[in-house]
Amino acid sequence: MASQEIETLAGALARLPGLGPRSARRAVLWLIKRRESALPQLLAALAGVQDRLVECGTCGNVDTTDPCSICADQRRDARALCVVEDVADLWALDRARLFAGRYHVLGGRLSALEGVRPEDLTIGLLIARVAAGGIDEVVLAMNATLEGQTTAHYIAERLEGYPVRITQLAHGLPVGGELDYLDEGTLAQALRARRPVG
Ligand SMILES: [Zn+2]
Repeated sequence: MASQEIETLAGALARLPGLGPRSARRAVLWLIKRRESALPQLLAALAGVQDRLVECGTCGNVDTTDPCSICADQRRDARALCVVEDVADLWALDRARLFAGRYHVLGGRLSALEGVRPEDLTIGLLIARVAAGGIDEVVLAMNATLEGQTTAHYIAERLEGYPVRITQLAHGLPVGGELDYLDEGTLAQALRARRPVG
């Protein structure tokens, strides 16, 4: 029977995406064996995340500044806005500098099953950004899942009547594909071949 400390840490780690109870225990053991080397690094990194990272009030990205470095970067094309479900998708697109514009993070996708409604996402903020003007193109970069596509259609409808071109990623994307898991070549291809919604 493991000590309370180990159980507590394993329990906390097991809640992380991709980690079940079994791999969480293995991670705890790994850390205990390296309490002089790896553990201090991990603690410092966690403290850094808690102390310094904030959510960008404009786009929803996570960074050390608000507005984030992408929103504040004047070299980026302010006329192009790429809408993604999660911060991980933004990072996937931005890792390889695939998109030269700015982003908008929805914070999820519409889901009748999980009870996620439009007001649970940052769709209102997105409409306000478009309504404020200065944006020519909105790229809907939702995942190629049923819920992702439902979300894209809903947003396209809400943006009807605004003077913006609405495009979405080409579906060389595998069905059910999540952006975060795609290689950069596939992602670049989907972005290059983006097409008007409708
Ligand atoms: Zn931002």
